[in-house]
Amino acid sequence: MSPSPLDLLRRVFGYDAFRGPQQAIVEHVVAGGDALVLMPTGGGKSLCYQIPALLRNGTGIVISPLIALMQDQVEALAQLGVRAAFLNSSLDAASAAAIERQLLAGELDLLYVAPERLLTPRFLDLLGRSAIALFAIDEAHCVSQWGHDFRPEYRQLNLLHERWPQVPRIALTATADPPTRREIAERLDLEQARHFVSSFDRPNIRYRVVQKDNSRRQLLDFLDGHRGEAGIVYCLSRRKVEETAAYLEAHGIAALPYHAGMDAAKRAEHQRRFLREDGIVMVATIAFGMGIDKPDVRFVAHMDLPKSMEGYYQETGRAGRDGAPAEAWLCYGLGDVVMLKQMIESSEAGEERKRVERRKLDALLGYCESTRCRRQLLLAGFGEDYPQPCGNCDNCLSPPDTWDATVAAQKALSCVYRSGQRYGVAHLIDILRGADHPRIRELGHDRLSTFGIGADLDARHWRSIFRQLVAAGLLAVDADGHSGLRLTPDSRPVLRGERRLLLRREATRRRERERLRSV
Ligand code: ADP
Ligand code: ZN
Repeated sequence: MSPSPLDLLRRVFGYDAFRGPQQAIVEHVVAGGDALVLMPTGGGKSLCYQIPALLRNGTGIVISPLIALMQDQVEALAQLGVRAAFLNSSLDAASAAAIERQLLAGELDLLYVAPERLLTPRFLDLLGRSAIALFAIDEAHCVSQWGHDFRPEYRQLNLLHERWPQVPRIALTATADPPTRREIAERLDLEQARHFVSSFDRPNIRYRVVQKDNSRRQLLDFLDGHRGEAGIVYCLSRRKVEETAAYLEAHGIAALPYHAGMDAAKRAEHQRRFLREDGIVMVATIAFGMGIDKPDVRFVAHMDLPKSMEGYYQETGRAGRDGAPAEAWLCYGLGDVVMLKQMIESSEAGEERKRVERRKLDALLGYCESTRCRRQLLLAGFGEDYPQPCGNCDNCLSPPDTWDATVAAQKALSCVYRSGQRYGVAHLIDILRGADHPRIRELGHDRLSTFGIGADLDARHWRSIFRQLVAAGLLAVDADGHSGLRLTPDSRPVLRGERRLLLRREATRRRERERLRSV
């Protein structure tokens, strides 16, 4: 008699019980069913195909886009006594041939393979002569051309179903907003498959967003609450990674840089230290993190805006995998908003693509600017309804003030209009505050009716107002590279006094620090 899934879980993997939907998924696939599995990072997707592969006759073929990950998985499986191997471009011809022989001889439980390898006629022929237990399609969101991990080869994977209709297929991903989910099902012919959707909530992660002011200083304040703990600080550019790491180092924090421009040996060393030593702060671009399985990452800090909500969820999801309290902290400001909007407008992408990008950015900005529960917003992006405010995000713990900013917004918008709808924020603020600059006089902007009408608010205040106006689509950013602002159709009702505008009142730096302490 063959062992039960639970026997294998205990005997081979050494765990007592299945987690969440694992058992149902395993049983479904063992019985020959197709499955689409949506589970957050760290949820335990691997076992969902590893155990069925062991229980079914033949080899489980795992399609994975990540070479480094394959190697780790195969090594870990080998230590458990599972007969696993991988085939990818990192192998020499002789080793690859040896693994192919093992496959044909039925000596492998699991074979990991890159999609481009799988799709070669040679490999498909080899598969045709082998016994196959199942196909597991890992990182299935790579099939989506709107996602940041798009892999064209994934689109051809539906041929597996055509060639081997009797072999069960299980597609897995941690990135799945409803449109992506539909796209996966459609592209991989998994509409008839059973869909297993887990909750994407990570209750132990506390979310927080702060207004960028002096971001390095703010980061230090934040890290003050995490002394001696391991964490990741994400920056957009390589240069900023280097600078931030050096800055933290100079302030007595064990920080290491990581980005794709560093040489491979150095990068590997930093990764190894992060994994093995205690309390290392990794300052990295998003090149770092995929497949990093470190349970006690206590925080993930973003010094720049991530690319999308899904990206943010993935990146912050690396914190607190052990279930203990962890923090996701995001520092963002006007410059980020203007730059990202401008990048979209000036890119070479087609109109449809731009529309998708705009929608993604707007969702993210909505998250940053919102006064509502962050968790509710984050999960809503995955089509998940979280009924109550969570009580574990900044907005829940310390509800932000709003203020009636209608008059201030009118001043800002008419200043944009009067100066010809082509100047950037710094100049607009100079006009509003009545600055005595030669450039203002040269342009005759000291004679505008809006000159000096905003002297009652300081520049920081105005930046916050402009940021919120841009984020809310009440001002648009020019595509020509100068980041000039212009009105949008939505600006009119505010200008005409038909729409009242409530904006978020930013905490001062001191209040922010107090909040950090009390929260
Ligand atoms: P994912 O691929 O969904 O990110 P993994 O399959 O890598 O997640 O699993 C995440 C971690 O959880 C791993 O360390 C794994 O060994 C562990 N794990 C998975 N399932 C169980 C279980 N049933 N009991 C205990 N630990 C588990
Ligand atoms: Zn909340």
